[in-house]
Amino acid sequence: MGVARVTRRGLLLGGAALLALPGTAFAAAAPAIVDCAGWGARPNNRIVNVVVTRPVKILVHHTATPNVDDLSRGAADHLARGIQNFHMDRRGWLDSGQHFTISRGGFVLEGRHRSLEAVRSGRKQVEGAHCTGQNLVSIGIENEGTYSATGPTGVLWDRLREMCAYVCAQYGIAPTEIFGHRDFKDTLCPGDVLYGMLPRLRGEVGGMLGRRPEGSSVRAASWPVLREDDRGPVVRAAQHLLRGAGRTEVAVDGVFGAPMAESVRTFQAEHATEEVNGIIGGESWPLLAAPVRAGERTEAAQAVETLAASSSTRPPSTVGPRQWQQLLTAAR
Ligand SMILES: [Zn+2]
Repeated sequence: MGVARVTRRGLLLGGAALLALPGTAFAAAAPAIVDCAGWGARPNNRIVNVVVTRPVKILVHHTATPNVDDLSRGAADHLARGIQNFHMDRRGWLDSGQHFTISRGGFVLEGRHRSLEAVRSGRKQVEGAHCTGQNLVSIGIENEGTYSATGPTGVLWDRLREMCAYVCAQYGIAPTEIFGHRDFKDTLCPGDVLYGMLPRLRGEVGGMLGRRPEGSSVRAASWPVLREDDRGPVVRAAQHLLRGAGRTEVAVDGVFGAPMAESVRTFQAEHATEEVNGIIGGESWPLLAAPVRAGERTEAAQAVETLAASSSTRPPSTVGPRQWQQLLTAAR
């Protein structure tokens, strides 16, 4: 490491310096970050929207690219250029969608132009394009690789921890507010393994900031991702909820087979979700999980009974989004 392409002095002393927000207990070392000029970014082709508000969370992504062995700075620059080209030429976006990129070699690169300037200010936010609905309230970090079956390199993990701690410190974000893309969308991103490491990330970032988040908040209940070939009580609950949402062709058998995936796609198309892919994630769950009051005999109420029985807990008297997440997380 030590490749600091930072032009403004003062923040970096030998690659890192302690920063503190006035009036807060936060402090974090700023990792070296390669800015857009440093990796040869193309100019953005429309104006980058910068707003004077602070983001309130961090979203962790994986690039879903191969887990390459080339850990060089050149590979990191190549990756950043490839993502930018894809986002501008194929997606039609004005620039890279994410705010920051971390390579498998542990290089941290600015994504969308002005993201570095904004995070340094601690009070401005660049509107990203990494997760519709979250782009004005979150910082998006893309991690190079595919982490569905294996974890990231040690240096990538170290830089991710440092970057999250730095972003949290700059904006006053609680380390418990670190999420995965799948918490908000019907996607497998950032992969089962990296997603499963988020409680550890929250805890470690908390430790770096001198905070010790409680276990329950580190392991926050969330919307589980369901996909074809999954089975069990959460699938059964989803089947009840799909039926309750009008997909009455769905059989309640606890097995996520091809017919159920087709019904999920129909549901997604009806609700105009971003992805129509047969995966139930952070976008479809809130649409499916209807509120339930005690004594109801709806499909949603049967889903609650299924989940409560599987974790041997008593169903809550009223079930809203938070209780749904708790029931779904406990039943897994
Ligand atoms: Zn993602």
